[in-house]
Amino acid sequence: MLSQVVELIESKQKFGITTHIKPDGDGVGSSLGLCWLLQSLGKHAEVIVHGEIPSAYRSLPGAEKIRNVDSIDNDYDAVFVIECSDLERPGIKGLEKEFTVNIDHHATSDHFGTINWIDSTASAVGEMIYNRCKAIGGRVTREIAECVYMALVTDTGSFHYSNTTDRTLKVASELVKAGVRPADVSEAVYNNYPWSRIELMRQVLGTVKRDESGRVASMRQTLKMREQAGAVDGDNNGFVNIPLAAREILAVVYMREVGENEYRVSLRSKGDINVAKVGEKFGGGGHRNAAGLQIVGDWDRKEAELVQAVREAVESTDQL
Ligand code: 5GP
Ligand code: MN
Repeated sequence: MLSQVVELIESKQKFGITTHIKPDGDGVGSSLGLCWLLQSLGKHAEVIVHGEIPSAYRSLPGAEKIRNVDSIDNDYDAVFVIECSDLERPGIKGLEKEFTVNIDHHATSDHFGTINWIDSTASAVGEMIYNRCKAIGGRVTREIAECVYMALVTDTGSFHYSNTTDRTLKVASELVKAGVRPADVSEAVYNNYPWSRIELMRQVLGTVKRDESGRVASMRQTLKMREQAGAVDGDNNGFVNIPLAAREILAVVYMREVGENEYRVSLRSKGDINVAKVGEKFGGGGHRNAAGLQIVGDWDRKEAELVQAVREAVESTDQL
């Protein structure tokens, strides 16, 4: 599949690149990194995203040229779809008619692309893009380096999640050599929120509790909390990880109300505990230690079901 990607890039000229709505650092960083790489090879490439780019990533080189589109409105030879579990995730109409390249590092990806390049051992898609850049003899410019570094930092939680490998750190080291300033990136990502984040955090943490085992924490965010805090998208980034700071907490269920009886759920776990399986059971997916899903129904009941399923995942690793 990789040789197909290389061949495609060599033989075609005009590329679109997209990622999921409400993109994270890997989504934006990898898309822009690939865009810079394609342009350095003399290709026409542009990044198209449905909706706004979170402010933390707007200072990345090239971010100002990302086009906010509802549907495909250009004539591409192929469209790269980054970090999406299916072809609906970008929220762009007409993608299904395109020649698509699915690039992902989630093991749970549907193989929806015309070509599928999936590497679940990569810490971020950014790592895949960087290695490809080197393999085809592309020059790692400061622009590419900054975009890829953003992807790595955000997807590895600043290099402390279990997806951080020797390869990740080696790539990061090379990126710093290419001109990235790690402290500047951290500042842009972690110390750059509006005060509404703190207001929202106060309210969400006010709901945190443990199950009877004492090992699974859960917390909630209502639409009203968002409104009261004056929160904007992204203000709750990372909240789900906070309860993991307690030694005895091995997994977290974080539910956000998004409509009437409708919730987005984030699951997190430590070590071998697999919450991706729990996510899949409820129609979502993700990685072993970080998964997500959308759920409909009575809040208390759904929360109880999720906490129970997560507790079973915790208990099943007791036997290992
Ligand atoms: P988060 O909790 O940050 O939204 O998501 C954690 C991980 O789970 C991410 O890697 C994300 O790709 C995956 N994920 C989140 N929501 C969904 C979903 O609805 N479906 C699938 N398949 N994966 C999801
Ligand atoms: Mn990613």
